[in-house]
Amino acid sequence: MSYTALYRKWRSQTFDEIKGQEPITESFKNQIKTGRIGHAYLFCGTRGTGKTSVAKILARAVNCQNPINGNPCNECSSCKSILNDSSMNVVEMDAASNNGVDDIRQIRDQVQYPPVDGKYKVYIIDEVHMLSQAAFNAFLKTLEEPPEYVIFILATTEPNKLPITILSRCQRYDFKRISTDTIASRLREISDSEGINVEDEALDYIARVGDGSMRDAVSLLDQCSAFQFEHCIKYEDALNILGAVDTSVFSEVIEALNMKDIKELLNIISTVIEHGREIGQFISDLIMYIRNLLLAKTVDNLQGLVDMSKENLQKLKDDSKLFSTTELLRYIRMLSDLSNQIRYSNQKRILLETTLMKLAFPETDATLEGLNAKLSEIKREISNFDFSDATGNKLDLSKVVDTKTINTKAVLSNKPNKVSLPKAQYDDLQLLKKEWRNICIAVPSSVVSVALRETYVKPNKERDGMIIVTKSKGGFKIISEEESKDMLCKVVENRYNKLIKFSTELSEEKENSTVYVTTDDLEQININIETEG
Ligand SMILES: [Zn+2]
Repeated sequence: MSYTALYRKWRSQTFDEIKGQEPITESFKNQIKTGRIGHAYLFCGTRGTGKTSVAKILARAVNCQNPINGNPCNECSSCKSILNDSSMNVVEMDAASNNGVDDIRQIRDQVQYPPVDGKYKVYIIDEVHMLSQAAFNAFLKTLEEPPEYVIFILATTEPNKLPITILSRCQRYDFKRISTDTIASRLREISDSEGINVEDEALDYIARVGDGSMRDAVSLLDQCSAFQFEHCIKYEDALNILGAVDTSVFSEVIEALNMKDIKELLNIISTVIEHGREIGQFISDLIMYIRNLLLAKTVDNLQGLVDMSKENLQKLKDDSKLFSTTELLRYIRMLSDLSNQIRYSNQKRILLETTLMKLAFPETDATLEGLNAKLSEIKREISNFDFSDATGNKLDLSKVVDTKTINTKAVLSNKPNKVSLPKAQYDDLQLLKKEWRNICIAVPSSVVSVALRETYVKPNKERDGMIIVTKSKGGFKIISEEESKDMLCKVVENRYNKLIKFSTELSEEKENSTVYVTTDDLEQININIETEG
């Protein structure tokens, strides 16, 4: 005998059996009892929430000879012929594979003939958002004036892709994700009837992995039961069988960050890519791991919050001690930004590498958060810092990364540094160009700061200073004042220990003022850091 998948075998056959969608099933029972049946229904919701099951029950209920309290009896000849797919009254179509005008025309031709037996012809169109524009147009005509005996049930996971003309002609039902408790109790019912020996904790886990989808959860239970013939399925078994993400690689990342070991970080990324892991997914999983670290730090009992084997859980607890809560929150924020940014980038690897470096070395992160992180580091080191040789360091990022060369005197003191400062080199000008936004923000006068908002900089011809370019005449006037340029010089002096001269230019053309870091720049940073380790 062939094996029937559990989710097919246990598909709900009456409205009462559908779990977790009570408002919808109650509404349909009432419609059947009162005979107030619509002609076009739209079922929306994520996969496995019961849309198709409800559609099929409804198709039987409207044709049933002896409905029981709004439910189909599943015994009469009509119910039986629909149940064994031999009825001409119920037509199912998957719009994902039949999305053309011809498919819709076929339906249009069919609906002209009333049902031979039974009361209604029911058309269930799944994934209806996949219909082509032309097919929608053809369908609309039928939907506008359907014959009395026709019911359309349209199901979709993406209602926002439907034309408004279709939406406005349907009664809409939104299927919710089913709660973990509801799914777990249904799984218990199924496993008891099927003689599957499984502990509650494992069922809870399976329900959580199902993530609101009853069908997915039942399929997962099916998978687990296939692995365990006689033993009881334990939580650990479920973790193994369903392949809980191996977290050891994230633990390695966290340890490398703690050691500020860039070489190791780059090695890990390289291995991850070699193993064919998708970078976007890797970042999401890493964020989840750091979220778990935060939980491990703050919550005593992690059960139900973190699905991990005992071994990994212990590792998680150890890792969580390496960082402060603030640091972990900073990691999550920066990685979430990265995760948004990376979607549209074809330099995913470089972006990931530079972000991890920023995490390891807060001084390369010019935001307030990064500076704060660095400041606490400096405070710790300040007592044994050698001040005598604070000048003369050529400013490039590879050295900024080295904590010893950051100029603490300039960072911590407001006293103007009158020791003859080195003149800016071409490299410095490039750095200033990149840092321009942050420099503008640091200018103490808000008037000047605002005037600088719409500007960008480029090295002058002699390459010994920068030209500030602006489109705004008012802004140009403010920035051109000596006092404003002095302020900028001070900021650059304090931050980078460099003397730089600024000139101004009024731009005629409409230029894009935003200066983004180019890929070349990123690669430059990358190479520098690599030689560092
Ligand atoms: Zn019946």
